[in-house]
Amino acid sequence: MTSETIEVKDLKKMDPVFGQLSFNGHEQIVFCNDEETGLKAIIGIHNTVLGPALGGTRMWSYKSEWEALNDVLRLSRGMTYKSAVTGLDLGGGKAVIIGDAKTQKNDALMAKFGEFVHSLGGKYITAEDVGMETRDMDVIHDVTPHVTGISESRGGSGNPSPITAYGVFMGMKASAKHVFGTDNLEGRKVLVQGVGHVGETLVDYITKEGGEVIINDIHEDRLLELSKKYGATVHMGSDIYGLDVDIYAPCALGATINDNTIEQLNAKIVAGAANNQLADEIKHGHRLKERGILYAPDFLINAGGIINVYAEIAKYGRDEIMTKTENIYNTTLDIFSLAEKEGITTHEAALNVAQSRIDARKNEKK
Ligand code: NAD
Repeated sequence: MTSETIEVKDLKKMDPVFGQLSFNGHEQIVFCNDEETGLKAIIGIHNTVLGPALGGTRMWSYKSEWEALNDVLRLSRGMTYKSAVTGLDLGGGKAVIIGDAKTQKNDALMAKFGEFVHSLGGKYITAEDVGMETRDMDVIHDVTPHVTGISESRGGSGNPSPITAYGVFMGMKASAKHVFGTDNLEGRKVLVQGVGHVGETLVDYITKEGGEVIINDIHEDRLLELSKKYGATVHMGSDIYGLDVDIYAPCALGATINDNTIEQLNAKIVAGAANNQLADEIKHGHRLKERGILYAPDFLINAGGIINVYAEIAKYGRDEIMTKTENIYNTTLDIFSLAEKEGITTHEAALNVAQSRIDARKNEKK
């Protein structure tokens, strides 16, 4: 596209930071560059009213810097609302490192990234995300205390995925209660898309309750292994949205509820772990509502992981982690009632509750 063909509205969309569609009230964005290690990272600090901005670091081979920037902005904003709606005293932040985690990650790069995190003086606290492992958090921990998700041997909280799965299960049960009048999943057909760390534990919970699980993944060997282990039905390929199921649980990628998939859905409930499930949170939130499909907001029901890592900062133990995660059930039901009362989408209701908490804290501080 040449400059002559760009209209003013397009130019606005293309402004590098403040004009990005996902730039939504962020407080600070930090670009980290180090020639020696090849580090190219972006830290997005969306909001610190409730506390330090906590959110994981993702290492990914982004096709462009635009894509990386857009990703970090969307994710850091999501963290603000996730922690706020869950009742944690945390703000929202996230970081991305541009590169292939399999071939370009090394200790020197992680330590340099840790130095950038440290330079923010605790305003941003990092954790694991895609492409990261507990070991990487340990390397960061050697240069800064502003990191969570470190090894249990170093006083960390360990792998958050089982807790995330438990929270998603709670959100799913609350959704079933709202739609079917009972939260018992016995006999319910549930499609779990993506059977990785979170997906597998979720399959385990649903199966134990007598639910009928259909699993989908891009890795056939994984599907066969889990099918044997849990007696789940395997569905290969991407033509899954029209399957005759009660519940669709996206546990792989974001944006799977989009213009192409939304009209195909037969499920009565969407409740899963993936972040940013709605490609367009307003448009697709409304369309789900019109179609009578109940959407359990992703940032509300997948908060088990953040509850788990926050334990390292707030110094609470296993029992409190489980109680707080179990409470996702009640919060989800409250959000559904609020959405119905106000005639808004469940996503809007969850955002409003989160924003009210942030606004109240802001007013207290004045
Ligand atoms: P994971 O990488 O362990 O698992 C993801 C699974 O999805 C993999 O098995 C992968 O093969 C599969 N997958 C990828 N693309 C797919 C596709 N197109 N169709 C079907 N399957 C596909 O990740 P995870 O830790 O289990 O997290 C799952 C989702 O939940 C992610 O979106 C993540 O951001 C979100 N989440 C995870 C946590 C956590 O504690 N791990 C917390 C909050 C949110």
